[in-house]
Amino acid sequence: MAGSLIFTDVLTVIFCEADNYPCSSLSADRQASIQPNPCSNTANLLVYLIDVYPLRKIYLCPLYTNMTRIYLDNAATTPLDAEVLDAMMPYLTTRFGNPSSIYSYGRETRLAIENARKTVAAHLHVSPGEIFFTSGGTESNNTAILAAIRDLGCRHIITSPIEHHAVLYTTAHYEKTGEVTRSFVKLLPDGHIDLHDLEAQLASAKEKCLVSLMHANNEIGNLLPIKAVGQLCQKYNAIFHSDCVQTVGHYPVDLSSIPIHFISASGHKFHGPKGAGIIYINGDVKVSPYIWGGGQERNMRAGTENLYGIVGFAKALDLAMSRHKEDFDYISSLNTYMREQLQARISGVQFNGDSHGHGLYTVLSAAFPKTDKSEMLLFNLDIQGICVSGGSACTSGAAKGSHVIGTLYNNPGMVTVRFSFSRHNTKEEIDGVVARLKELI
Ligand code: PLP
Repeated sequence: MAGSLIFTDVLTVIFCEADNYPCSSLSADRQASIQPNPCSNTANLLVYLIDVYPLRKIYLCPLYTNMTRIYLDNAATTPLDAEVLDAMMPYLTTRFGNPSSIYSYGRETRLAIENARKTVAAHLHVSPGEIFFTSGGTESNNTAILAAIRDLGCRHIITSPIEHHAVLYTTAHYEKTGEVTRSFVKLLPDGHIDLHDLEAQLASAKEKCLVSLMHANNEIGNLLPIKAVGQLCQKYNAIFHSDCVQTVGHYPVDLSSIPIHFISASGHKFHGPKGAGIIYINGDVKVSPYIWGGGQERNMRAGTENLYGIVGFAKALDLAMSRHKEDFDYISSLNTYMREQLQARISGVQFNGDSHGHGLYTVLSAAFPKTDKSEMLLFNLDIQGICVSGGSACTSGAAKGSHVIGTLYNNPGMVTVRFSFSRHNTKEEIDGVVARLKELI
């Protein structure tokens, strides 16, 4: 039996220990020494539980191949839309020219990029010259923070402790180098930022500030009153950056009505390709290149463009906006249905963030009472083919804490699961997940 599992399929190896043993992988001779005890055996899945001191448990799971899976982790990433792939295909095949080439192959791909830029700019109500294509949200966040410090004279950063790591770690880096000081805005009990505290911090700041606050939190879904924050920044002459990775493609975002300098967005969050994103840089601010070389992206970001990614980003945004109302209504109804079902069927369930108010319709963050059974909830859902997140970027199944949930709730007695939806999900899938949860909690 061991042979049929361990060496005939690719393995996902997950270490889980009471005090958060890090995710790791086993060496080949360690694998060979394992004496597995089958603790679950279904048509598609074998799971083994082994006690190896000092680890309490090691689970070995073949990667799923035939199992019907339920994907409720759309805030992590979304599947590429078929129409987006169709739009990208010519640029992966016949239209392969380097956009910098002056002959016809290059001209047709240059045109595709500039058309994509116009499409994106039109949806965001800005000028095409204010849109720069990047590799995604992380690069855009890094770029905005770097530019604010290096080119715009910001010496203090006001941000929040529940930003994405692409903001949190980047601002921590510049704080560590001594280029800036950093403070966190106060959070209200429901996870919204305290606007009064933000204003007090801006009013008392001695040096030029960068405010970096995300438009929607990717773990609990809370939405920022982005216009009000922009107006405060304008009043105190601060630079404003917002990580809009969870909102662009999910809401109409009209930047012409918001005083803002930078936003970040990422294609794979709305059925576009991975590795394709944008940074919006307000035309009123002048920033220097952030990657030097061939002069692409109007000298701002050198390197041959991710042509098909850019085309895919624009197509995905176009599609998302054209079906926004329909998707919003449908996905919101799934979210509400799941919340009601959980409330009705799982005792002790709580919801993180502002799930009844100003929050993303795509995200539902639930907290379940921790019991012997529910401690390994993510892992147990995973082995039943249910893909959800615990709010951390670590391997699904590992009980690694989320900085967002830790900051806001810090309740070791609860297990958080983030469910996030797309137009591909169904009520039947939600019924299936709730039924599994009922067994596992
Ligand atoms: N910001 C937020 C709010 C996100 O949810 C993510 C993705 O998880 C990122 C930034 C990073 O985006 P990307 O994966 O495109 O680098």
